[in-house]
Parts: sequence; structure tokens; C-alpha cells
Amino acid sequence: MSKDDHESENNLFADALRNLDDAAEYAQMHPEALERLRHPRSVFEVSIPVRMDDGELKMFNGYRVLHSAIRGPGKGGIRYHPKVDLNEVKALAFWMTCKCAVMGIPFGGAKGGVVVNPLKMSRRELERLSRGFIQRISKVIGPDTDIPAPDIYTDSMIMGWMMDEYSKIAGKSTPDVITGKPIALGGSLGRQDATGRGAYYCLKEHEKQRGWKPQDVRVAIQGFGNAAQPLARLLDEDGYHIVAVSDVRGGIYRPEGFHVPGLIKAMQEHRELKAMHYEDGLAKLIDCDNVSNEELLELDVDILVPAAIENVITAENAPRIKADTIVEVANGPITVDAQKILNKKGTFVIPDILANAGGVTVSYFEWVQNRAGFYWSEEEVNQKLHQKMRTEYHNVFELSQIHDTDMRTAAYVQALTRIEAAFVAQGTRDYFAETN
Ligand code: GLU
Repeated sequence: MSKDDHESENNLFADALRNLDDAAEYAQMHPEALERLRHPRSVFEVSIPVRMDDGELKMFNGYRVLHSAIRGPGKGGIRYHPKVDLNEVKALAFWMTCKCAVMGIPFGGAKGGVVVNPLKMSRRELERLSRGFIQRISKVIGPDTDIPAPDIYTDSMIMGWMMDEYSKIAGKSTPDVITGKPIALGGSLGRQDATGRGAYYCLKEHEKQRGWKPQDVRVAIQGFGNAAQPLARLLDEDGYHIVAVSDVRGGIYRPEGFHVPGLIKAMQEHRELKAMHYEDGLAKLIDCDNVSNEELLELDVDILVPAAIENVITAENAPRIKADTIVEVANGPITVDAQKILNKKGTFVIPDILANAGGVTVSYFEWVQNRAGFYWSEEEVNQKLHQKMRTEYHNVFELSQIHDTDMRTAAYVQALTRIEAAFVAQGTRDYFAETN
């Protein structure tokens, strides 16, 4: 693919390859390794017939993309979303390759997606769809080839159904085919909170570098799902002010900060964002303003956490972003052009392939535990995650200083250096030409 072919922002894979080009210059990557990364290893497209509760038969489209398996089996989530498209899944798979390399875990990258609005399906329909998808992709996934996990709108229950379906097809219990499972079905303690906790550990390192006092720092979070909730809880416990949160319907804003346990309880009990304050078993609604998801991004805060979907910070709104630190908990929330604007403004961005890598890191721990048949305590999982996040945050930060770049480019340099080493270890043109 030429540079011109991947210029447009609405092709997410093309945009992702622009990051690759930018970082490849600093990493001085071997052109053969670079070329390999431009092409996903395999792309699998399926249609899944599902009998709906009213008797109707509906067809759903799904994808599984294995981007690279050079550093180990493919790894990456499965998302259910009405806007899933193949270019998006390819980009997400590419980011997984880079994310696993940034963290130094022995996996390649993959991703799956089904075009569906799960909020409009019953639980029984969702189970049939999930099992049907696994039946269709069972030949291309496996504990040694490609290991799925949760992503947007897929949870541990769905991972449990998928593992069960795969095990039936394989004719044996195969917990290591998928991660993010319920604890009772071989999941890992700490996996549920791992993405948010990983982002929190990154921020704690940044806090030390900046000399922040948490009680002076205001945080806005776009999205309030599985990753955002534990992050908000941990920051709140340290004294940070969580002043804005949102879900797909919109957000709420309170300059003094919210009572985070109340927000989480309301979300879990009513599946709705409510400015609740819970104390001694009593709940009361507190005053706050409504903001749209777009307005939330532009609030006057210190830390902005996009934790929903991709492409929300673009060249159009980037000039109006006031936060001086952005932590990408979602995958790909900042476009390449927006990042350039933020760099000029001096905004410090902790990029997705580092900031949200806690999820896949504990997925790796889950896979290791499944294969060993020996399970760790939550404390052990969190402590190992903390150590990994701290180490890789500082490795990436150091690279950003050496190359005088933003943290995203530095994270890609780290990833590409590790990926390239794997390609070079198998021999490049230079090696084969010399030994002829
Ligand atoms: N979907 C998550 C991500 O984008 C987790 C992937 C995994 O655990 O394999 O990183």
C-alpha cells in the first residue's frame, strides 16, 4: 500500500498505518519487517444465522482478523457493535500486535467483530449469536493460534459461552482458547478491572513526574464501562476529582466532583448514569449539569480520559481540548491529524497501546494460569500487572526523551523494535544474500 492510499481518516486501518510510517523512521526498521506489518496475515469473514425469539431467522456478519503471529499466537478481543467494519477490525488487530509488543508479552495481534446492536437483543439471542460466531470461526482460533477476549459490548458471560462452544467442538475442555472468562470457568482474578487498573498505574507514574497533588486534579471521562469504572474508582480513592463522566446517551458534569461509588452503583443497578451519592445505605441525587459527549471532551479539566470509541478527538475539535494530559483508555480515540495538533499545544498523551494494555496483560496471565492449571491470588495478579505497567511506561517515556517525540511515537518505536527483532531472527534479505 502506498502512502497516498492510506491518507483518509475514515479508513481506520489506513490511519493506523500512518502511525506505523511515522514511528518506522525513528525505529529505523528493516523495510521487509515494515512491509510485513502492512498486511494482515489472514482475514476471515463469516455470516451467522440466528433464530430470534419471535421465530424469525436473522443473518449477522462477523470478522476475525489475525494481523501478526510473529511473536506468538494472535491475541485480541471480539466486539459487538452496529458500526463494526472490516477496516476497523484490521486496525484494531494491528494495534493488538503493537500493544502486545509494547508490553513484551509473547503474543501477536488479532481482533474480531460482529455487526450487531447487542442492546437490542435478548440474552437468549445473544447466547445463540455468540455460540454461532464461534462455530463459524472455530477453525481459525485456538489456544496456540489465536486467542479472543472481550471488547466493546462483550463481557465475561459471553466469553464463557464462547469457551464452552469451542470446547464442545474440540471435544475437550479448552479454557485457554479465550480470556476474560468468568472466574468460575477459569477466568483470572483481577481481569475484570485490569484495563482501568493498568491506565491508573500509568497515571500514577505520570503523577510522580509532574509532582501532582491528586486533590488539585480534575478528571473528565468519556464512557463509563468496564475500563472506565475501575479507573474512576481508583483515582477517586486517591483524592482526584472525577468531574465528568458519560455513556452513549450523554454525560454529567459537576465541577466539585462526583461520588464515584455512587455513580458505579447507579450504573450497575439501573444501567444508567445518575449523579448518586450513597452513604450508609442511603442514596440521594446530587445536582449536576448535563453535557453532550462532544462537550465533555472540551471541558476545562487537567486529565481527559476518552474511554468509549475511536476517532472522537479529530483535527476539528483538537484545538479546543483544554486538558493537558490525555489517557487513551479506548482504542484509537485520537486521529493522527489530531495528535499533531495536540503535540503543538504540548498536550501529554499516554497512548492506547500502552494506557489500555493492562487488559491484554492480565489476559496473558489468565492464559498462563489456564495452561499451568494453577491459579494466582488477586494480589499477585495486581502486583505483576503493576510491575509490567511501571516498567513499560518508563521504557516508553525514556524513548520519547531519546527521540524527542510524543509518547505514541515512542510506544510504536518500542513495539516495532521488538517486532523487528522477531522478523530479523528468521533472516532478512541481508542475511540470505550474504550466505548465498
Ligand atoms: N479488547 C481488549 C483490548 O483491546 C483486550 C484484549 C485481550 O485481552 O486480548 O486490548
